[in-house]
Amino acid sequence: MKIVHYTSDNPWTGYLMCPSCGHGNPAWQSSGMSDSRPHFYCSLCSNVLSRDSDNALLRRYGATLDLLDRLSSTLPECPCGGRFSVEAHLKCRKCRGDMPNNDSPVERLDNPHLLILDGSTLVRDTLYDYEVCIGSRVKYWYRRACRALRTWSATR
Ligand SMILES: [Zn+2]
Ligand SMILES: [Zn+2]
Repeated sequence: MKIVHYTSDNPWTGYLMCPSCGHGNPAWQSSGMSDSRPHFYCSLCSNVLSRDSDNALLRRYGATLDLLDRLSSTLPECPCGGRFSVEAHLKCRKCRGDMPNNDSPVERLDNPHLLILDGSTLVRDTLYDYEVCIGSRVKYWYRRACRALRTWSATR
């Protein structure tokens, strides 16, 4: 899978503070201008699903409970074995606790600020999936090497 690298001083990266343990989770946030509505997090990890087909439906019907129900039944499994869900939140890398935002699931359909934690994957329907790596180049190359090694041993 592709890895997209952001340096820590990228304007769209920052830290998402965990409400339970106070850990700052490095994260990338989409600009409000790009259309990442709606997006859904995984029930077990912090991977994110963003599909153009959902965006088309949202534009057509608006953020309603009906649309939420409709999308909810079509959300796929996450590569980690969990499932993308209308109720799932990002999880803290340190304590694994939920980092909820206070909006209702219907309101969240309209939230353009998609957040991807360092090391998590964005899953899409029409474009390639990619993992986000925030920080130094060294970390990026280290992660690429580990990934290559894992793939290599899995194919033997
Ligand atoms: Zn935490
Ligand atoms: Zn997952």
